[in-house]
Amino acid sequence: MDTLQLWGLESFYTTIVVLFVFLWIISIIWVAKDISARTNSVLLQIIAIVLVTFFTPIVWIPLYHIIKPIWYKKDKMPWREACITNATVCGKCRMLNAKEHKCCINCGTKLMIKCKECNKEYPHNYRYCPKCGWPNIELN
Ligand SMILES: [Zn+2]
Ligand SMILES: [Zn+2]
Repeated sequence: MDTLQLWGLESFYTTIVVLFVFLWIISIIWVAKDISARTNSVLLQIIAIVLVTFFTPIVWIPLYHIIKPIWYKKDKMPWREACITNATVCGKCRMLNAKEHKCCINCGTKLMIKCKECNKEYPHNYRYCPKCGWPNIELN
């Protein structure tokens, strides 16, 4: 009877460990996919994957959500592309959108902001209003 109870407890722990390892692997794959979409820097990609592997998803996922906006702000590539192709980059998912789009075609985030001075709508990544030159307070 004792051995049976002990076995039951052991298999319970085994299930938890297996579930945890499964979640761990899933989050490593998720971070690898997410970071490769976010930056072209191989070093940053390696750092993100190594960190999620060592810190476990419980610690790393919340931390990752805090620091990832800093990473994609540093990566200027899509913004450069946007200038050449006359497009707008979504600040959230970095999808390239046509300049007249009001919302992102991939994630629905608002792409236009309204000038505080003259009420003209313009793409969120402009630093100044193209009509009156009022600074975009979200970027400046
Ligand atoms: Zn988007
Ligand atoms: Zn204006």
